[in-house]
Order: sequence, then structure tokens, then C-alpha cells
Amino acid sequence: MQVFQFLSNTKEGTAMHSSLIGMVEKAHRYSEEKERVSFGQIKATIRGENDTHEVGFNNGEWHCTCEHFTTGKVCSHTMAMERILTGMVPEKAPAHVASALR
Ligand SMILES: [Zn+2]
Repeated sequence: MQVFQFLSNTKEGTAMHSSLIGMVEKAHRYSEEKERVSFGQIKATIRGENDTHEVGFNNGEWHCTCEHFTTGKVCSHTMAMERILTGMVPEKAPAHVASALR
């Protein structure tokens, strides 16, 4: 990487270089250990087959702008987000639905 080559040209640069390598190694490890992450708030859009919906997670609760969520408090969009973020947000789908998602 260009930044690493630049940093290696001085003594201070070499220290920064090894510090950066340490950060990159930790970043790799942390990103593999998803249980380290917990989301407090999420705001996203998800493209459904018919429309794009706004999906949110706030104070432990999911929300979605679609009709299914408005009437049933559960929808494919929030379920998809739960699946994507498995282990990083509390599971809210009913148990029989949650087990089917896995
Ligand atoms: Zn929805």
C-alpha cells in the first residue's frame, strides 16, 4: 500500500507503520468477532420486490414503513435485517420465525 511505503521512509514513519499494522490486524479480528458489536440505533433502506422501505432499530425495537409491519409488527424487511445483523441486535421475530430464518 502506498501509505505504508511512505511511512517506512523515516524512523517515526516505521513506528507509525507498525502501529497501523497493529490496528489493521485488530480490525480484522474485531470484524470476525461480531459479538463485540451491539447496535443501539440503525436506520436503513431496503429494496423490496415492489418498493423501497425504511427500516429502523431504536431502543430495542424494529420499525418498518411497509404495510405488513404496520398491521402485524413483523415483516420480511425487519427479518432480513435481523438475519444480516445476527448476534448484534436482539432477536424480535417470533421463535418459530426466528428458527426458520437460520
Ligand atoms: Zn417491512
